Amino acid sequence: MTEAITAHELRDRVKRGDISAEEATRAALDRIEAVDGRLRAFLTVTPEAALDQARAVDAARRRGDRLGPLAGVPVAVKDNFCTEGVRTTCGSRILENFVPPYSGTAVRRLAEAGAVIIGKTNMDEFAMGSSNENSGFYPARNPWDLDRVPGGSSGGSAAAVAAGEAVVAFGSDTGGSVRQPASFCGVVGLKPTYGLVSRFGLVAFASSLDQIGPLTLDVTDSALALQAVAGHDPLDSTSARYDPPDYLAAIEGDVKGLRIGIPREYFGEGTEPAVEAAVRKAIEVLVGLGAKAEECSLPHTDHALSAYYIIAPAECSANLARYDGVRYGLRAAGAEDLADMYAKTRAQGFGAEVQRRIMLGTYALSSGYYDAYYLKAQKVRTLVRQDFERAFAKYDVLVAPTSPTVAFKLGERAENPLAMYLADVCTIPVNLAGLPGLSIPCGDDGGLPIGLQLIGRALDEATLLRTAHAYERAVGFTPRLAPADPAAGKGGRA
Ligand code: GLN
Repeated sequence: MTEAITAHELRDRVKRGDISAEEATRAALDRIEAVDGRLRAFLTVTPEAALDQARAVDAARRRGDRLGPLAGVPVAVKDNFCTEGVRTTCGSRILENFVPPYSGTAVRRLAEAGAVIIGKTNMDEFAMGSSNENSGFYPARNPWDLDRVPGGSSGGSAAAVAAGEAVVAFGSDTGGSVRQPASFCGVVGLKPTYGLVSRFGLVAFASSLDQIGPLTLDVTDSALALQAVAGHDPLDSTSARYDPPDYLAAIEGDVKGLRIGIPREYFGEGTEPAVEAAVRKAIEVLVGLGAKAEECSLPHTDHALSAYYIIAPAECSANLARYDGVRYGLRAAGAEDLADMYAKTRAQGFGAEVQRRIMLGTYALSSGYYDAYYLKAQKVRTLVRQDFERAFAKYDVLVAPTSPTVAFKLGERAENPLAMYLADVCTIPVNLAGLPGLSIPCGDDGGLPIGLQLIGRALDEATLLRTAHAYERAVGFTPRLAPADPAAGKGGRA
C-alpha cells in the first residue's frame, strides 16, 4: 500500500470485486518489502499463510458467500498474540523459537471476520517499555522520522499501520501500550474496557491490566476492528458478560450537550507546549460542535505511576515464573543442576528491563514488604478508580493528552528507566481503573504527530468513538501514510 486506504474502504472494494483480497495482501506485503528493512515493525511476516487466507476470501466471494466485516483486510498482530503454527516471541529471546499450538480468541475472531493476518509486529520484550528499544531483537522506528522511536510497547503495530504495511494492527495495552504508540505514529489507538476483549491467547504481562486493542488509520476502522474482537469469551474468566453494541452505528451521532471534563493533572510539568496547544485546540473543536467543556480534577493522578510500577511488576513476576527452561522456549546449556539451569536460562533469555521488573515485583510481594508496597499500591489503585467515578458522575468524557511529549529520539531515554516510565503518566491511570481510552491524531509538532486522549466510562466505548468521529468530521481528517523514508526525517512530513 502506498496510498492510505482504510479497512472499511478496502473491505467494500473487495466486496464489490474492484480489488481482490489477494491483490490487497500483495500490496501490503510489497510495502513491507519496500520499507521494513528500515522500519523494522515486524518480527515475523507470513506471506504464504496470508496469501492462502486471501485466496480463501476471494473464493468465498466468487461462490457468492457472505463476506465478513474485515474481508480481505491485511491485519498485523503484536507478537504477544498466540498464533497457531506461527512463531510468537513476545519480543523476547526466551521465546525466540516458540510456536504456539493454538491461536488466541482475538486472532480466531479476526480470521472469522475475513481478515488476512500478514505477520507479527515488533514490541518491547513482554510488553515492558514505551519505545520499542526493549525488543529482544531490534527496535522498530517511527515512520515519520526514522531517528525517533515509534513508542511502545506496541510500537511495531503503530508503525506498521502508519506506514501502510498493514491496514489494521492489534496491540495490547497494560499501561498505555496501544495509545502511546498510536499517538507517536499518528494513528488511532483504542484500549477497550478491561474485560471487553478476551485475553485468551495473549501472553500475560500484568493480568489485571492487560487489554487487547486496535490501531487503525481512522475512527471508523477502530469501531470496525473493535467489533470484530469484542464480546464475552468463556475461555477468559475475566471476560465481561456483555453484549457489545453496534459500534459502527454508534459513531454516527453528534456531540451536542456532551459534557467534557479536562483533568488539570494531565497537563502537568513536562507537558510540551505544542502538545498542550494541540489538545486545547481539539477541545475547542468539540465545544464548537456543541459539547460543554470545563476543567476538573483527578487528585490522585500523581500517585498512579508509582502504584502501577508496583502492581505491574508484581503481576509480571508471577506471570513470568513459567519461563523456566522446562516448559517454554529457551533452555540454557551447561547447567550444573536444576537451580543453575533456571538461573542461567532466565539470565540469558530475559533482557535487562524484564529482569528489573521481575526483581522489583518479587521484592514488592515478598513477606515483610507486601503490606508496605503491594497492598498500599492496591489502595492507591482504588483511590485512582474513585477519582474517575466521581468525574464520570459529572462528565461523559474526559479529554487529555495521550503522551506529554511527541516521539523522542532513539537512545534518548534508554539509559534512564524513570524517564522512560514518565512516557505513560497520562495513560496508566486509565488501566488502573479498567476504563476505555482512545487516542486520535490531533495535530503535529514539526511533523511529529500529537495524540488526543478520550477517556470514557466502563463499557462506554461507543461515546468515545462517537466523540472522536465527530472530531474527525469537523476537522476534515483524511488519513495519510507516513513515508518511512530516511529523507523524510528531521521533521518534515514528506
Ligand atoms: N510502558 C508501560 C510499561 O512499560 C506500559 C506498557 C504496556 O502498556 N504494555 O509497563
